Amino acid sequence: MDVYGLIGNPVGHSVSPPMHEAAYEECDLDARYVTFEPSEDSLAQAISGADALGIRGLNVTIPYKQTVLPMVEPDPVAARIGAINTIAFNSTPEGYNTDAAGVRRAFEHHDISLTGKAVIVGAGGAGRATAHALADEGVTIQIANRTYSRASELATELQKLGFEASSHELDELSTLIPGANLLVNTTSVGMDSAKSPVPRPDLHDDLAVMDAVYTPLETKLLKDAREVGATCIDGAWMLLYQGVEAFEIWTGIEAPIEVMNRALRAHLE
Ligand code: NAP
Repeated sequence: MDVYGLIGNPVGHSVSPPMHEAAYEECDLDARYVTFEPSEDSLAQAISGADALGIRGLNVTIPYKQTVLPMVEPDPVAARIGAINTIAFNSTPEGYNTDAAGVRRAFEHHDISLTGKAVIVGAGGAGRATAHALADEGVTIQIANRTYSRASELATELQKLGFEASSHELDELSTLIPGANLLVNTTSVGMDSAKSPVPRPDLHDDLAVMDAVYTPLETKLLKDAREVGATCIDGAWMLLYQGVEAFEIWTGIEAPIEVMNRALRAHLE
């Protein structure tokens, strides 16, 4: 039996086990997906122990996405983003950031063309993955964050790589969003269902709006966006496609996307 899993702390409420195990069953794979909560002090031992025990792959979540970086061989995208959410144990532990692919594939699933200008709200882990993913597609990146210095560091990093990127204060959203065709919330603000990180009057019907938040599935931002006629993509799509990408890296076979989506949404709803 092949073993895959998730390391983080806490991981008790993760939706990854039912999503991945539904895929194993559909593809007739003799495999299990289990969760682990190592302490930060034992993280390096946990990674080498997983490798020694023949565990095939691990997802990595908060608070270890950056901490595991020196313990793996990162692929170029993960190295640029500076965070790992997927490890594949081959001849060495290989590190990937499938959150970035998750953002790209979630937009593609909704037939949204990745061109033009994006406003990304937030410059934490999800913001970094989103900015790199969209910049790679040629989208102009405008990052607004509560802590301006984090937005500025990310924009500077992207500029040095030759991408078009700028940094902004949150109160500049009203001037940025009218000229944008893509809007992604990567802050945790929408987890409080009464709050949106974006003023409702700024939204318009030429926008495709993605929210990284997936609890609740319909955030205040997405509700407002739906009401003005924008295309809405909830956080479960990003979550689904980061899992799809991890499954494909680990198994080398095409993921049963519909089955994974159904299992994920059944669990979230
Ligand atoms: P993180 O690294 O801690 O970053 C948090 C971000 O939210 C920062 O930009 C922070 O701004 C901002 N923020 C927090 N509270 C705020 C407030 N009250 N007002 C304005 N900005 C605020 O966290 P993360 O890992 O990026 O996760 C962010 C969200 O994305 C979480 O809800 C997480 O569940 C979700 N997420 C979803 C997926 C998915 O697959 N759908 C994947 C990853 C993350 P400062 O820099 O000023 O602190």
